[in-house]
Amino acid sequence: MSFIDIRNLKKSFGPTTVVHDFSMAIEKGEFISFLGPSGCGKTTILRMIAGFETASGGEIRLAGADVTHLPPARRNVGMVFQAYALFPNMTVAENIAFGLKVAQKPQAEIKARVEEMLALIKLPQLADRYPYQMSGGQQQRVALARALAVRPQVLLLDEPLSALDAKIRVSLREDIRNLQRELGITTVFVTHDQEEALSISDRIVVMNEGRADQMGRPFEIYNYPQTRFVASFVGTLNLLKATVVDPSAGRLEIEGQGVIAEHGAEAHARGATCTVALRPEAVTIGEPGPGRNALSGLIEEVAFLGAIVRVRVRVGTAAISLDLFNDPTSPPPERGTAVTIAFDRDDLLVLKD
Ligand code: ATP
Repeated sequence: MSFIDIRNLKKSFGPTTVVHDFSMAIEKGEFISFLGPSGCGKTTILRMIAGFETASGGEIRLAGADVTHLPPARRNVGMVFQAYALFPNMTVAENIAFGLKVAQKPQAEIKARVEEMLALIKLPQLADRYPYQMSGGQQQRVALARALAVRPQVLLLDEPLSALDAKIRVSLREDIRNLQRELGITTVFVTHDQEEALSISDRIVVMNEGRADQMGRPFEIYNYPQTRFVASFVGTLNLLKATVVDPSAGRLEIEGQGVIAEHGAEAHARGATCTVALRPEAVTIGEPGPGRNALSGLIEEVAFLGAIVRVRVRVGTAAISLDLFNDPTSPPPERGTAVTIAFDRDDLLVLKD
């Protein structure tokens, strides 16, 4: 049995359904991210796991127990919010001790746990500070310590990094991941930032309008998006309209310009229109060969990005971007140059719309 088992979870606010029939099994110690744009329902699912929102239907089980209708305090989950949400009139130590006091733990145990938590978040010297005397990053560390102090069975993180500046965000996300691994605590993290989700998670759930479009490891989500939505939300890639001209040979006509390419995916019906995705890093200038598609085009734009040079090539009505590694011994290609571009037929992904 999974550690968190969510079955057919639904949530409606009045006539509007914001979570449709969501099911997922999460294993003990996993780090799961819910990724999606604003309003897709990711926070609502997190709040239903925490018990701050009641489910309109379905079931949530934690460690085998049905908690669907239990109040938050009886679920043994810790939560960290986007806004720091520390008690402003309490010191760091008092904030961390809060849940333990509510649970009426003995004084000595509280003191020891607070010290342990301060060491865990690497802020032992700040025990007597008040929240207003600390940076945003430090406040979020304290919020994390406060959530973990009661030894919850699940840690829920609702965009805990989004109010911080970019550099702190990256270092704190690494710290959160290390801490999570060290404690082995099952964690659910909500974010709208694809890089954050890709870098931190064991598995990602990509949410779209109250439904999970795809669940998988970061490698799978990035390389093998199954829907147009996932492809466009996660990472940069070329999305091209295509028509199937020969299903048995997997031949496609891209953008109606007589440009025929093959793909390695299963054939659709003849005449069907579909969207195909192609990652810029899968495309080369030149280098045709067996099992590869070659198309002729004109370089339309060249952007030098440092380690990578992004080149946009016009092929009929389609514009295909490709990434070249920077080579200090050879300057990037020029705009207006006629080129042949090539890519493995297996790199052409046919998506569900
Ligand atoms: P964000 O990143 O903006 O928080 P989200 O993906 O987490 O977005 P939710 O907060 O889960 O989205 O909201 C999903 C939908 O439910 C939104 O359309 C939102 O307006 C609606 N919603 C959320 N809470 C309530 C509420 N208490 N009453 C009515 N509608 C709500």
